[in-house]
Amino acid sequence: MTATEDLIAAAEAHSAHNYHPLPVVVSTADGAWMTDVEGRRYLDLLAGYSALNFGHGNRRLLDAARAQLQRVTLTSRAFHHDRFPAFCAQLAELCGMETVLPMNTGAEAVETAVKTARKWGYRIKGVPAEMAKIVVAGGNFHGRTTTVISFSTDPEARADYGPYTPGFEIVPYGDLTAMRQALAENTVAVLLEPIQGESGVIVPPEGYLPAVRRLTRERNVLFMADEIQSGLGRTGRTFACEHEGVVPDVYVLGKALGGGILPVSAVVSSAEVLGVFRPGEHGSTFGGNPLACAVALEVIAMLRSGEYQARATELGAHLHRELHALADTGRITAVRGRGLWAGVDIARAYGTGREVSERLMDRGVLVKDTHGSTIRIAPPLVISEEDLDWGLDQLRVVLAG
Ligand SMILES: *Cc1c(COP(=O)(O)O)cnc(C)c1O
Repeated sequence: MTATEDLIAAAEAHSAHNYHPLPVVVSTADGAWMTDVEGRRYLDLLAGYSALNFGHGNRRLLDAARAQLQRVTLTSRAFHHDRFPAFCAQLAELCGMETVLPMNTGAEAVETAVKTARKWGYRIKGVPAEMAKIVVAGGNFHGRTTTVISFSTDPEARADYGPYTPGFEIVPYGDLTAMRQALAENTVAVLLEPIQGESGVIVPPEGYLPAVRRLTRERNVLFMADEIQSGLGRTGRTFACEHEGVVPDVYVLGKALGGGILPVSAVVSSAEVLGVFRPGEHGSTFGGNPLACAVALEVIAMLRSGEYQARATELGAHLHRELHALADTGRITAVRGRGLWAGVDIARAYGTGREVSERLMDRGVLVKDTHGSTIRIAPPLVISEEDLDWGLDQLRVVLAG
């Protein structure tokens, strides 16, 4: 057996099989490249589902983490620590908001948003006890907790985990009429991804997000944007909502906020909305810890410069031009996305998404398939144009046969 086969067999022997990884075993990584245990190099066109927007081993982020490791890493929120005020103030400022509630994983931030909306509904909007309703979109991906999968439409994510949390209504993504009809007296929030990532990088019809913004404002309903994957530079703006001039009431952030080093997530909103929490009513042992704050502060500083957003815009235009050219050959049936982010539907004759991903792996390029025939391309924003072109060359070769 090769070292790779050995390690995969060992992993399979002692881990739950809740993933089906490509058969590559990574041991080191730098920038947009990963190296496996046998010394083969791979271009990373997944970037940890956008958790690695700034690339592997980013010097600025590692320096920030190292410096904080020497000082203090965890206090719990039972005590104050000196990184917390700047983290909250600077993240709020980046979002154009007032108040931050830090958590760790994305799913926890979504849970926090759900709790925020319900409490806001009961304490501020005046919804009768136990009656709060949250409207979500079909095809959503908001995480893996029991409540969050309760409003998933993906049978794989949801089956056999009942009984499910009530209080959610699902409407088709991009359907404004359905959204209008779903908003009722007891609706406290609409929770949407401005671009649906896991669903295959689905961009809603132009005008949908601004219309939902108007509707929610008229009906006194919170608009909560899950920008965990779409936010923090990926689409060419700090937030995907910005492309349509939309400012939500609540941002839900995660993934890239932790710089690919540790999980950092947050709910960011107004002082009024997040003011619904009183001491003891919500929390997390690790949420807002000093190490997380130090890394996130560097992420925020990097985003403040605008250089990563500009890169995503420029390289993204290039990526989409090249993919559309491939679509003209009939090998690709659809290309969606914004910025350095694309969902690519492979024509049936050229294999499933998984088969294409495996053939790309054999040629040194790592992507992830989704929903059968789709591959998702989301390189680190620090990728060079030459490397991106090389990756696209491999895709052309793989789809030639
Ligand atoms: C990844 C993701 C989540 C869940 O984040 P985890 O850190 O995996 O819990 C939630 N929403 C969106 C849009 C995501 O892409």
